[in-house]
Amino acid sequence: MKVNVDETKCQGHSRCYIIAPEIFEVDDYGYSHSKFTDDLPKDLEEKAKLACENCPEFAIEISE
Ligand code: SF4
Repeated sequence: MKVNVDETKCQGHSRCYIIAPEIFEVDDYGYSHSKFTDDLPKDLEEKAKLACENCPEFAIEISE
């Protein structure tokens, strides 16, 4: 599973980071990006889904 943040949609309120700091990093303004360019570790997949479901901007993309 891969996770990506669409920077054109991200509004920088850091919700994803609060849910899954193992997966996401935020800049000084709260805008997020994924730490992982390759597949996520299996044990982080559920957290990635939870963060995706809680992003109000639908900015987090998950692909298999
Ligand atoms: S929750 Fe969504 S909009 Fe908010 S910082 Fe994370 S990716 Fe960006």
